Amino acid sequence: MKKQVCAALWTMLCGVGCGGVVHAQQQNFDAVEVHSLKVRDDIYMLVGAGGNITMQIGDDGILLVDTQYAPLSQKILAEIRKISDKPIHYIINTHHHGDHTGGNVNLRAAGTTVTGGNVAGTIADSAVGALIIAHENVLNHLTAATGAQALPSSGWPTNTYFGEKKEMFYNGEGIEILHMPAAHTDGDSAVFFRRSDVISAGDVFVTTSYPVIDLANGGSYVGIVNALDRLVDIIIPVYGQDGGTLVIPGHGRLSNLGDVLNFREMVIVIRDRFREMIDKGMTLEQVKAAKATLDYDPVYGSTTGFWTTDRFIEAAYKSLSETPKDAQ
Ligand SMILES: [Zn+2]
Ligand SMILES: [Zn+2]
Repeated sequence: MKKQVCAALWTMLCGVGCGGVVHAQQQNFDAVEVHSLKVRDDIYMLVGAGGNITMQIGDDGILLVDTQYAPLSQKILAEIRKISDKPIHYIINTHHHGDHTGGNVNLRAAGTTVTGGNVAGTIADSAVGALIIAHENVLNHLTAATGAQALPSSGWPTNTYFGEKKEMFYNGEGIEILHMPAAHTDGDSAVFFRRSDVISAGDVFVTTSYPVIDLANGGSYVGIVNALDRLVDIIIPVYGQDGGTLVIPGHGRLSNLGDVLNFREMVIVIRDRFREMIDKGMTLEQVKAAKATLDYDPVYGSTTGFWTTDRFIEAAYKSLSETPKDAQ
């Protein structure tokens, strides 16, 4: 799971300078299986490769949050059709990375298609597609993307919002699309299903690694902290029993308040340690040598794959060095 975290981001950050990096589009997805987990009556979590997909179903139709990679679309659609044969009316993108938007073109085109068991061949036939909703910076990044990062324009958001949030009502429940400024990227949204009491967090919250901060696309350490604070504000737990608000992370397992609190605590403890070392004038190399993340490394760290501990430390050091202390 960890090695799949934002593989598209890896290619983007590396550009052409990192020879040998396998682009997401070149990965072999043949062995990937797509599974669904029922989260609440009308909410499912779809896991394959790339970011988790959240699916809301109801009498009106289907709403998806994120779409994973394009080569998985048929498998995703097949899994969706095991659960509902309603049309897909909406896709919400939590941010622009390819492991969350790669399937936009295919699943949008499958939008109004209502099939029985026969999925193959129906994707390309559909004339009218789902609406794709995202923060306006998602569209800005997708329109500017080139090469392996480029997504065909039919996969770009059709409805963008700016400001704090966008609200909609679908399948009998209010849905809040909440902008998390300058966090994982500058276009992050978390999607709060109010009646179901489920939050689809996007990559501001993951259980598989340290927080991924895409500095090149407007992410920041302080924005991650703010986003986690906002999630904690929304979550209402039920102590001593299953229930309360459930959180679907960008990557990793279905979570609750305790999981988000643990992650936030780690993020804040490391922030304070780094802040202290930066205040002392320590260089990046000195901070690395100090092994300030050591106690958390067994849970969140990695020496291989896309988001290694070293890369996290580099991003955290840079972001915290550049952010005025009173803004943290
Ligand atoms: Zn991701
Ligand atoms: Zn991402």
